[in-house]
Amino acid sequence: MFYIKDSDNYKSFINEKEIFEALEKNKGNDIVRVREIIQKSIGKNRLSPDETAYLLNLSDPECINELFRGAERLKKEVYGNRIVLFAPLYIGNECINDCQYCGFRISNKEVFRRSLTEEEVGKETLALIDKGHKRLILVYGEHPMYDAEFICKTIEKVYGTKKDRGEIRRANINAAPQVFKDYKRIKETGIGTFQIFQETYHYGTYKKIHPTGPKSSYIWRLYGLDRAIKAGLDDVGIGALFGLYDYRYEVMGLLYHTMHFEERFGFGPHTISFPRIEPAINTPLAKTPPNVITDEKFKKIVAVLRLSVPYTGLILTAREPENIRKEVMKYGVSQIDAGSNIGVGAYSQDDEESYKKSQFVLGDQRSLDEVVGELTETGFVPSFCTACYRMGRTGEHFMEFAVPGFVKRFCTPNAILTLMEYITDYASEKTAKSALKQIKKEINNIPESKMKEQLKENIKKVESGVRDVYF
Ligand code: SAM
Ligand code: SF4
Repeated sequence: MFYIKDSDNYKSFINEKEIFEALEKNKGNDIVRVREIIQKSIGKNRLSPDETAYLLNLSDPECINELFRGAERLKKEVYGNRIVLFAPLYIGNECINDCQYCGFRISNKEVFRRSLTEEEVGKETLALIDKGHKRLILVYGEHPMYDAEFICKTIEKVYGTKKDRGEIRRANINAAPQVFKDYKRIKETGIGTFQIFQETYHYGTYKKIHPTGPKSSYIWRLYGLDRAIKAGLDDVGIGALFGLYDYRYEVMGLLYHTMHFEERFGFGPHTISFPRIEPAINTPLAKTPPNVITDEKFKKIVAVLRLSVPYTGLILTAREPENIRKEVMKYGVSQIDAGSNIGVGAYSQDDEESYKKSQFVLGDQRSLDEVVGELTETGFVPSFCTACYRMGRTGEHFMEFAVPGFVKRFCTPNAILTLMEYITDYASEKTAKSALKQIKKEINNIPESKMKEQLKENIKKVESGVRDVYF
């Protein structure tokens, strides 16, 4: 296996000295400055390291409240009330790395190892289709067994599995960093986003908690998505695992990663993820993380990220409990998973031991139907839309942000159409009732236009059984 060692002279674009200096010199609680920074972001500009550091350092409750209101405003004005829904599909938990926070690490003898066969991938996919899912993220441990060939086969199996009117229309990937030619091969299968989380951007901490295996190279991982982009996969997702080091440093790291992409490729990451460490079987570090992220800090992380990089999608996972998910969704989250099960093979098998095949424990264990019901009752429009990526409109979050009228012309009507599909094919009576009410409200909000008429016609088509209708 080829990978760059940290001694191979690759320069990190995470400038540790600059980050510490920015965090040190940008301290204060001046509400006028907070408002200026928020205004800059709402005016559709990415924030600078100094501005981001200033928001991260806020301690006065009034200023922090202003920060939350700012993030809420940006989310409402730019993105509206849609929330994209997806589910994770764990393909295999064999792993040659020893990440101290993860239940799948090589030294964990208590975890039950399992990899899905092609047939089992089909079964899991069917179970997810049966619930109404259209978008998945496929998750893999890092192991020679999970080479590009294997990854491609699993993706092809997912896309090739259909049932009645159901199918998976977008598969995103969370797997180990690849070499250029393997990214190229994976791109050919038609994936959505390729995600790699740096976990911690702090070099010293990274080296301590990734003692062996390919992942022990900070630089190999840091440049993992550069290689993906060069291979043509321009839809990439970055992330940090919060709880390993000072959360302020990690947010700055995510910002520096974003700036690096902007400088080198002319566009930023498609999504940013910000998981908190969750407990995992036989994993002491996950039980007592070195830097505990309280709910208050977590809310601040989401709000600062929203304002700092206003054009990316923000992904919140079911690692978080229901109450926190509800609250931070307001601050700019664009995608959440629902009805998730992270045991390998756990969607299609009723398996009491599935916990032993899980990477960590989920905070929100509600079904997809419950989440759709709850979202529509609270004024959100759940969306299963995959139109942009299939129309070749990559980087849809950026377009939502940058192209005037894009959300109104494409995102809202497509969210409504995919929600209507869900209602017709999968929803319980209770969920269908609140979802239909929400759709009615949305349609009433659209001014009379050709698009509105077209949307109404398309809704009728969906009701009569036509599928995959989109703008
Ligand atoms: N093995 C690949 C890798 O590490 O990049 C991809 C899959 S890994 C299972 C996906 C992500 O899970 C990791 O990047 C890490 O951020 C997250 N993770 C690991 N242990 C976790 C824990 N205890 N709680 C929450 N997230 C965790
Ligand atoms: Fe393996 Fe990924 Fe878990 Fe690390 S985080 S032990 S690489 S599965």
